[in-house]
Amino acid sequence: MPPILVVGSVAYDTVKTPFGEASEALGGSATYFSVSAGFFAHVSLVAAVGQDFKEEDWRFLESRNIDLQGLKRVDGKTFRWVGEYGYDLNDARTLDTQLNVLAEFQPNLSDAHRDIKHVFLGNLDPKIQRDVLAQVTKPQLVACDTMNYWINGHFNSLLETLRRVDILIINDAEARQLTRESNLIRAARKIHGWGPGTVVVKRGEYGALMFQRDVQGRISVFGTPAYPLEDIFDPTGAGDTFAGGFMGYLAGVGRSDWASLRQAVVFGSVMASFNVEKFSLDRLRNLTFTEIELRYKEFKEMTRIDDVVEWQPDSRV
Ligand code: AMP
Repeated sequence: MPPILVVGSVAYDTVKTPFGEASEALGGSATYFSVSAGFFAHVSLVAAVGQDFKEEDWRFLESRNIDLQGLKRVDGKTFRWVGEYGYDLNDARTLDTQLNVLAEFQPNLSDAHRDIKHVFLGNLDPKIQRDVLAQVTKPQLVACDTMNYWINGHFNSLLETLRRVDILIINDAEARQLTRESNLIRAARKIHGWGPGTVVVKRGEYGALMFQRDVQGRISVFGTPAYPLEDIFDPTGAGDTFAGGFMGYLAGVGRSDWASLRQAVVFGSVMASFNVEKFSLDRLRNLTFTEIELRYKEFKEMTRIDDVVEWQPDSRV
Protein backbone atom coordinates (compact mmCIF):
# COMPACT_ATOMS: atom_id res chain seq x y z
CA MET A 1 0.00 0.00 0.00
CA PRO A 2 1.38 3.47 -0.84
CA PRO A 3 2.25 5.43 2.27
CA ILE A 4 0.98 8.79 3.53
CA LEU A 5 2.97 11.00 5.86
CA VAL A 6 0.86 12.94 8.37
CA VAL A 7 1.88 15.55 10.90
CA GLY A 8 -0.65 16.92 13.37
CA SER A 9 -1.81 16.79 16.95
CA VAL A 10 -2.17 13.67 19.08
CA ALA A 11 -4.35 14.73 21.97
CA TYR A 12 -6.45 14.02 24.96
CA ASP A 13 -9.80 15.74 24.36
CA THR A 14 -12.47 16.69 26.85
CA VAL A 15 -15.68 17.20 24.94
CA LYS A 16 -19.25 18.03 25.88
CA THR A 17 -22.20 17.74 23.51
CA PRO A 18 -25.95 17.89 24.30
CA PHE A 19 -25.88 14.08 24.24
CA GLY A 20 -23.08 13.36 26.67
CA GLU A 21 -19.46 14.02 27.45
CA ALA A 22 -16.05 12.43 27.21
CA SER A 23 -13.13 13.31 29.44
CA GLU A 24 -9.50 12.97 28.37
CA ALA A 25 -10.42 10.79 25.40
CA LEU A 26 -7.89 9.95 22.71
CA GLY A 27 -8.12 12.54 19.92
CA GLY A 28 -6.09 15.00 17.90
CA SER A 29 -6.00 15.87 14.23
CA ALA A 30 -3.28 13.35 13.34
CA THR A 31 -4.94 10.59 15.33
CA TYR A 32 -8.33 10.84 13.61
CA PHE A 33 -6.64 11.27 10.24
CA SER A 34 -4.36 8.25 10.68
CA VAL A 35 -7.04 5.85 11.88
CA SER A 36 -9.34 6.89 9.01
CA ALA A 37 -6.65 6.86 6.28
CA GLY A 38 -5.37 3.53 7.64
CA PHE A 39 -8.38 1.84 6.01
CA PHE A 40 -7.01 2.84 2.58
CA ALA A 41 -3.25 3.27 2.84
CA HIS A 42 -0.25 2.81 5.08
CA VAL A 43 0.16 5.84 7.35
CA SER A 44 3.32 7.22 8.95
CA LEU A 45 2.43 9.51 11.82
CA VAL A 46 4.73 12.38 12.85
CA ALA A 47 3.87 14.05 16.18
CA ALA A 48 4.87 14.30 19.81
CA VAL A 49 3.17 13.03 22.95
CA GLY A 50 4.08 13.44 26.61
CA GLN A 51 5.06 10.95 29.30
CA ASP A 52 1.37 10.74 30.22
CA PHE A 53 0.42 9.17 26.88
CA LYS A 54 -1.21 5.87 27.72
CA GLU A 55 0.37 2.60 26.68
CA GLU A 56 -3.02 1.26 25.54
CA ASP A 57 -3.46 4.25 23.18
CA TRP A 58 0.00 3.68 21.70
CA ARG A 59 -0.84 0.00 21.17
CA PHE A 60 -4.20 0.89 19.61
CA LEU A 61 -2.53 3.14 17.00
CA GLU A 62 0.09 0.49 16.31
CA SER A 63 -2.63 -2.05 15.69
CA ARG A 64 -4.20 0.15 12.98
CA ASN A 65 -1.65 -0.06 10.18
CA ILE A 66 0.02 3.13 11.47
CA ASP A 67 3.81 3.50 11.55
CA LEU A 68 4.72 5.20 14.84
CA GLN A 69 8.43 5.64 14.19
CA GLY A 70 7.81 9.41 13.92
CA LEU A 71 5.69 9.63 17.09
CA LYS A 72 8.04 10.95 19.75
CA ARG A 73 7.42 10.53 23.45
CA VAL A 74 9.07 13.51 25.13
CA ASP A 75 9.18 15.11 28.59
CA GLY A 76 6.03 17.02 29.41
CA LYS A 77 2.30 16.57 28.90
CA THR A 78 0.36 15.50 25.82
CA PHE A 79 -1.63 18.20 23.95
CA ARG A 80 -5.03 18.88 25.54
CA TRP A 81 -8.17 20.32 23.91
CA VAL A 82 -11.41 21.12 25.72
CA GLY A 83 -14.44 21.80 23.52
CA GLU A 84 -18.17 22.09 23.65
CA TYR A 85 -21.02 21.81 21.14
CA GLY A 86 -24.57 23.12 21.46
CA TYR A 87 -27.51 21.74 19.47
CA ASP A 88 -25.88 23.18 16.35
CA LEU A 89 -23.23 20.51 16.06
CA ASN A 90 -21.49 22.43 13.27
CA ASP A 91 -20.33 24.99 15.79
CA ALA A 92 -17.44 23.81 18.01
CA ARG A 93 -16.56 26.13 20.87
CA THR A 94 -13.00 25.81 22.11
CA LEU A 95 -12.88 26.25 25.89
CA ASP A 96 -9.20 25.50 26.34
CA THR A 97 -6.14 24.60 24.27
CA GLN A 98 -2.93 23.47 25.95
CA LEU A 99 -0.20 22.85 23.40
CA ASN A 100 2.08 21.25 26.01
CA VAL A 101 4.71 19.11 24.21
CA LEU A 102 3.58 20.42 20.81
CA ALA A 103 4.75 23.93 21.71
CA GLU A 104 8.39 22.86 21.43
CA PHE A 105 8.00 20.10 18.85
CA GLN A 106 10.74 20.02 16.21
CA PRO A 107 10.09 17.18 13.80
CA ASN A 108 13.04 15.35 12.37
CA LEU A 109 12.08 12.92 9.61
CA SER A 110 13.81 9.60 9.02
CA ASP A 111 15.18 8.82 5.54
CA ALA A 112 12.23 6.54 4.81
CA HIS A 113 9.75 9.28 5.75
CA ARG A 114 11.52 11.84 3.55
CA ASP A 115 10.73 9.69 0.50
CA ILE A 116 6.97 9.58 1.03
CA LYS A 117 4.98 11.20 -1.81
CA HIS A 118 1.58 11.85 -0.18
CA VAL A 119 1.70 14.33 2.67
CA PHE A 120 -1.06 15.56 4.96
CA LEU A 121 -0.30 18.62 7.07
CA GLY A 122 -2.89 18.18 9.81
CA ASN A 123 -4.17 20.95 12.03
CA LEU A 124 -1.09 22.21 13.87
CA ASP A 125 1.25 25.21 14.05
CA PRO A 126 1.84 26.22 10.38
CA LYS A 127 5.55 26.55 11.15
CA ILE A 128 5.72 22.86 12.16
CA GLN A 129 3.68 21.96 9.06
CA ARG A 130 6.32 23.75 6.95
CA ASP A 131 9.23 22.18 8.81
CA VAL A 132 7.89 18.73 7.97
CA LEU A 133 7.18 19.53 4.34
CA ALA A 134 10.65 21.04 3.87
CA GLN A 135 12.16 17.68 4.83
CA VAL A 136 10.16 15.67 2.28
CA THR A 137 12.35 15.17 -0.80
CA LYS A 138 9.79 15.11 -3.63
CA PRO A 139 6.23 15.43 -2.38
CA GLN A 140 3.68 14.58 -5.09
CA LEU A 141 0.43 15.53 -3.39
CA VAL A 142 0.30 17.80 -0.34
CA ALA A 143 -2.96 18.48 1.48
CA CYS A 144 -3.38 20.71 4.51
CA ASP A 145 -5.93 21.52 7.20
CA THR A 146 -6.03 24.32 9.73
CA MET A 147 -8.41 25.96 12.20
CA ASN A 148 -9.37 29.30 13.75
CA TYR A 149 -6.70 28.98 16.47
CA TRP A 150 -3.92 29.17 13.83
CA ILE A 151 -5.77 31.56 11.49
CA ASN A 152 -6.12 34.08 14.32
CA GLY A 153 -2.67 33.83 15.80
CA HIS A 154 -0.40 32.76 12.91
CA PHE A 155 -1.99 34.15 9.75
CA ASN A 156 1.19 35.08 7.85
CA SER A 157 2.89 31.84 8.78
CA LEU A 158 -0.16 29.95 7.50
CA LEU A 159 0.00 31.79 4.16
CA GLU A 160 3.63 30.76 3.86
CA THR A 161 2.67 27.12 4.37
CA LEU A 162 -0.20 27.37 1.87
CA ARG A 163 2.20 28.42 -0.91
CA ARG A 164 3.47 24.84 -1.03
CA VAL A 165 0.14 23.08 -0.64
CA ASP A 166 -1.89 21.45 -3.45
CA ILE A 167 -5.15 20.87 -1.58
CA LEU A 168 -6.55 22.85 1.33
CA ILE A 169 -9.23 21.00 3.30
CA ILE A 170 -10.99 23.43 5.57
CA ASN A 171 -14.42 23.98 7.10
CA ASP A 172 -16.76 26.70 5.88
CA ALA A 173 -16.49 29.02 8.90
CA GLU A 174 -12.69 28.80 8.75
CA ALA A 175 -12.64 29.42 4.97
CA ARG A 176 -14.65 32.60 5.56
CA GLN A 177 -12.45 33.66 8.45
CA LEU A 178 -9.23 32.94 6.57
CA THR A 179 -10.24 34.89 3.46
CA ARG A 180 -12.59 37.49 4.98
CA GLU A 181 -15.08 36.55 2.27
CA SER A 182 -18.59 35.41 3.16
CA ASN A 183 -19.17 33.81 -0.25
CA LEU A 184 -17.47 30.41 -0.54
CA ILE A 185 -16.73 30.72 -4.27
CA ARG A 186 -14.94 34.00 -3.65
CA ALA A 187 -13.21 32.44 -0.67
CA ALA A 188 -11.99 29.50 -2.79
CA ARG A 189 -10.79 31.90 -5.51
CA LYS A 190 -8.74 33.79 -2.96
CA ILE A 191 -7.23 30.58 -1.57
CA HIS A 192 -6.38 29.43 -5.13
CA GLY A 193 -4.44 32.68 -5.48
CA TRP A 194 -2.40 31.80 -2.38
CA GLY A 195 -1.27 28.41 -3.75
CA PRO A 196 -3.66 25.46 -3.37
CA GLY A 197 -5.21 24.61 -6.77
CA THR A 198 -7.89 22.53 -5.03
CA VAL A 199 -9.96 23.65 -2.07
CA VAL A 200 -12.31 21.31 -0.22
CA VAL A 201 -14.77 23.09 2.04
CA LYS A 202 -16.39 20.91 4.71
CA ARG A 203 -19.85 22.10 5.66
CA GLY A 204 -20.73 19.78 8.55
CA GLU A 205 -24.22 18.34 8.21
CA TYR A 206 -24.61 20.15 4.85
CA GLY A 207 -21.86 18.16 3.15
CA ALA A 208 -18.81 19.32 1.24
CA LEU A 209 -17.92 21.48 -1.74
CA MET A 210 -14.75 21.12 -3.78
CA PHE A 211 -13.32 23.84 -6.02
CA GLN A 212 -10.54 23.37 -8.54
CA ARG A 213 -8.87 26.00 -10.67
CA ASP A 214 -7.55 25.07 -14.11
CA VAL A 215 -4.63 26.73 -15.92
CA GLN A 216 -6.98 29.23 -17.59
CA GLY A 217 -8.30 30.26 -14.18
CA ARG A 218 -11.72 28.60 -14.64
CA ILE A 219 -13.15 26.97 -11.54
CA SER A 220 -14.78 23.51 -11.48
CA VAL A 221 -17.09 22.72 -8.58
CA PHE A 222 -18.22 19.42 -7.07
CA GLY A 223 -20.65 19.13 -4.18
CA THR A 224 -22.12 16.34 -2.08
CA PRO A 225 -24.54 16.32 0.83
CA ALA A 226 -23.50 14.73 4.10
CA TYR A 227 -24.74 11.20 4.72
CA PRO A 228 -28.10 11.71 6.46
CA LEU A 229 -27.79 10.44 10.04
CA GLU A 230 -30.50 10.50 12.66
CA ASP A 231 -28.19 10.18 15.64
CA ILE A 232 -25.03 12.24 15.85
CA PHE A 233 -23.21 12.04 19.17
CA ASP A 234 -19.88 13.79 18.80
CA PRO A 235 -18.68 15.77 15.78
CA THR A 236 -15.12 16.00 17.14
CA GLY A 237 -12.67 14.75 14.57
CA ALA A 238 -15.17 14.70 11.71
CA GLY A 239 -12.95 17.04 9.68
CA ASP A 240 -9.81 14.98 10.20
CA THR A 241 -11.63 11.72 9.57
CA PHE A 242 -12.93 13.27 6.34
CA ALA A 243 -9.38 14.24 5.37
CA GLY A 244 -8.20 10.69 6.21
CA GLY A 245 -10.76 9.08 3.90
CA PHE A 246 -10.04 11.68 1.20
CA MET A 247 -6.23 11.39 1.20
CA GLY A 248 -6.28 7.67 2.00
CA TYR A 249 -8.39 6.98 -1.05
CA LEU A 250 -6.18 9.12 -3.35
CA ALA A 251 -2.98 7.50 -2.07
CA GLY A 252 -4.56 4.06 -2.31
CA VAL A 253 -5.52 4.46 -5.99
CA GLY A 254 -2.42 6.54 -6.80
CA ARG A 255 -4.40 9.18 -8.72
CA SER A 256 -5.43 12.81 -8.27
CA ASP A 257 -7.44 13.59 -11.42
CA TRP A 258 -10.81 15.35 -11.09
CA ALA A 259 -12.86 12.11 -11.19
CA SER A 260 -10.73 10.55 -8.43
CA LEU A 261 -10.91 13.72 -6.36
CA ARG A 262 -14.71 13.56 -6.57
CA GLN A 263 -14.68 9.97 -5.38
CA ALA A 264 -12.26 10.96 -2.61
CA VAL A 265 -14.72 13.61 -1.36
CA VAL A 266 -17.37 10.90 -1.10
CA PHE A 267 -15.03 8.51 0.75
CA GLY A 268 -14.13 11.39 3.08
CA SER A 269 -17.81 12.02 3.72
CA VAL A 270 -18.43 8.31 4.34
CA MET A 271 -15.63 8.10 6.93
CA ALA A 272 -16.73 11.31 8.68
CA SER A 273 -20.31 10.03 8.87
CA PHE A 274 -19.18 6.96 10.80
CA ASN A 275 -16.97 8.93 13.15
CA VAL A 276 -19.75 11.17 14.47
CA GLU A 277 -21.93 8.19 15.45
CA LYS A 278 -20.00 7.69 18.71
CA PHE A 279 -17.69 9.61 21.05
CA SER A 280 -13.98 9.96 20.38
CA LEU A 281 -12.63 7.24 18.05
CA ASP A 282 -15.06 4.64 19.33
CA ARG A 283 -16.91 4.11 16.05
CA LEU A 284 -13.72 3.87 13.98
CA ARG A 285 -12.39 1.21 16.35
CA ASN A 286 -14.86 -1.42 15.18
CA LEU A 287 -15.64 -0.14 11.67
CA THR A 288 -15.36 -2.74 8.90
CA PHE A 289 -14.47 -2.52 5.19
CA THR A 290 -17.89 -3.94 4.36
CA GLU A 291 -19.61 -1.08 6.18
CA ILE A 292 -17.46 1.47 4.32
CA GLU A 293 -18.24 -0.14 0.98
CA LEU A 294 -21.96 -0.30 1.69
CA ARG A 295 -22.18 3.35 2.74
CA TYR A 296 -20.18 4.44 -0.32
CA LYS A 297 -22.73 2.64 -2.51
CA GLU A 298 -25.63 4.22 -0.62
CA PHE A 299 -24.00 7.61 -1.11
CA LYS A 300 -23.77 7.11 -4.86
CA GLU A 301 -27.39 5.99 -5.01
CA MET A 302 -28.54 8.91 -2.87
CA THR A 303 -27.01 11.51 -5.19
CA ARG A 304 -27.75 9.87 -8.56
CA ILE A 305 -29.94 11.69 -11.06
CA ASP A 306 -31.64 9.76 -13.89
CA ASP A 307 -33.19 11.57 -16.83
CA VAL A 308 -36.41 9.53 -16.93
CA VAL A 309 -37.94 12.00 -19.35
CA GLU A 310 -35.58 14.27 -21.20
CA TRP A 311 -36.33 17.88 -20.27
CA GLN A 312 -36.69 20.25 -23.22
CA PRO A 313 -36.14 23.95 -22.56
CA ASP A 314 -39.01 24.87 -24.95
CA SER A 315 -41.57 22.28 -23.76
CA ARG A 316 -43.89 24.72 -21.97
CA VAL A 317 -47.60 24.33 -22.84
P1 AMP B 1 -11.97 18.44 13.92
O1 AMP B 1 -11.76 17.35 12.91
O2 AMP B 1 -11.84 19.77 13.30
O3 AMP B 1 -13.20 18.24 14.74
O4 AMP B 1 -10.70 18.35 14.91
C1 AMP B 1 -10.80 17.97 16.25
C2 AMP B 1 -9.44 17.63 16.80
O5 AMP B 1 -8.54 18.73 16.63
C3 AMP B 1 -9.52 17.34 18.28
O6 AMP B 1 -9.28 15.98 18.51
C4 AMP B 1 -8.45 18.24 18.91
O7 AMP B 1 -7.59 17.54 19.76
C5 AMP B 1 -7.69 18.82 17.74
N1 AMP B 1 -7.37 20.24 17.93
C6 AMP B 1 -8.15 21.20 18.50
N2 AMP B 1 -7.50 22.40 18.51
C7 AMP B 1 -6.30 22.19 17.92
C8 AMP B 1 -5.18 23.04 17.61
N3 AMP B 1 -5.17 24.33 17.92
N4 AMP B 1 -4.11 22.47 16.98
C9 AMP B 1 -4.12 21.16 16.66
N5 AMP B 1 -5.13 20.32 16.92
C10 AMP B 1 -6.22 20.82 17.54
